[in-house]
Amino acid sequence: MVGASFACALSHGLTAADISILVVESIAPSTSPGKSPSFDARSTALSLGSSQIYSRMGLWQHLQGVATAIHEIQISDKGRFGSARITSAEQQVEALGYVIENHEIGNCLNAVLDNSAGVQFFCPAAITAITPNTAGMSLQIDMAGKSHALSAKLVVLADGGNSPICEKLGISHRRESYEQQALIANIAFEQPHKNIAFERFTDSGPLAVLPLADNNERHRGALVWTLRDNQVAEHLAASESELRARLQERFGNRLGQIQHIGERFCYPLSLSIATEQARPGLVLLGNVAHTLHPVAGQGLNLALRDAQTLVQILVEANGTTAMLGSMPVLQRYLQAQQADQDRAVNFTDYTTRLFSSNNSGKILARKFGLLAIDLVPSLRREFARQAMGI
Ligand SMILES: Cc1cc2nc3c(=O)[nH]c(=O)nc-3n(C[C@H](O)[C@H](O)[C@H](O)COP(=O)(O)OP(=O)(O)OC[C@H]3O[C@@H](n4cnc5c(N)ncnc54)[C@H](O)[C@@H]3O)c2cc1C
Repeated sequence: MVGASFACALSHGLTAADISILVVESIAPSTSPGKSPSFDARSTALSLGSSQIYSRMGLWQHLQGVATAIHEIQISDKGRFGSARITSAEQQVEALGYVIENHEIGNCLNAVLDNSAGVQFFCPAAITAITPNTAGMSLQIDMAGKSHALSAKLVVLADGGNSPICEKLGISHRRESYEQQALIANIAFEQPHKNIAFERFTDSGPLAVLPLADNNERHRGALVWTLRDNQVAEHLAASESELRARLQERFGNRLGQIQHIGERFCYPLSLSIATEQARPGLVLLGNVAHTLHPVAGQGLNLALRDAQTLVQILVEANGTTAMLGSMPVLQRYLQAQQADQDRAVNFTDYTTRLFSSNNSGKILARKFGLLAIDLVPSLRREFARQAMGI
């Protein structure tokens, strides 16, 4: 998702005469959910800022038709007083964000990559080794049973949260497991969602229901249900009717009866931050640079802002004598994104810990936090700006 988005943005910013881009992806596109690590059965809440980034790349016109607008975010704490409501009308924006199924983002990015002049797309093909050379990096790529060697001025490594390449390069990560997993599924409700995204905090962790377009007359939502590690097996093994009853008890009757829960998938959740994001000829983007808890929907949105800034800096450098992969150029990128990355990481980590705890002090902080957001317009505006990625 991140590597393909970056390549599309770079090919939009520079012409084929300026640069030649090679995208290497190890998993072939698939129509079965769960097969591709990025373009899987999940849905993503794209912030308003991210929709603007995709729009500048000429991609939004393709994605708009499959995007469901978020006009309202409702945040509540199960079984406790205190809730907050943020609306696009009050923030004077067309939408706070949009929900898109990941496989739709994948279809769009793959189609654009296939048709971009100056972009070569090797898939399925795997990078097996990266080693520094005087002009940048040497790459070893396995494709169709053969090994290929080539050299690049800059490698943008976007190989996800589990990167053997980083290990080989000696780039370590600061990792903290939340001891939680996200159970995701598409669900159907009795009543339409009215473009509301629900964020509900429960004793096992946060639970989100994002609005999806109706399908076969079903009112659909995308469920992201945070469970403690020791609850996962029983939730995966439970019958559909049993799970519906449990979810109904957690989510309440906001959208009437939960009528259906589709196929379930689980993702272990951790905070993982690379200790280095750049070396001469190499820069890390997306989950390999920072993997966040999905509670606040910040992971891809932050990575898209990183990608946009990196493209801007490479485009500026391209008109000068600076080498694209040189440290002064990459340092400019790191400095430009440092504050944004720190803010998104801290916001997500703090929210996760605050809303996953049954400690009485944190329960009180939550209650007053939600009340304050609901009552104080300037706080609401601040919270909305982080959610909207602007
Ligand atoms: C349950 C859940 C819900 C989420 N919801 C949101 C949300 O609403 N909003 C949001 O902003 N973020 C959300 N996120 C975060 C978001 O999904 C991630 O930030 C995003 O998927 C990161 O993508 P990536 O491209 O960096 O990594 P990945 O998705 O892991 O992709 C890495 C790619 O690299 C390829 N690859 C790996 N090794 C090699 C190799 N050696 N050679 C070639 N190719 C290779 C893999 O095949 C894969 O395609 C959510 C995350 C989870 C777990």
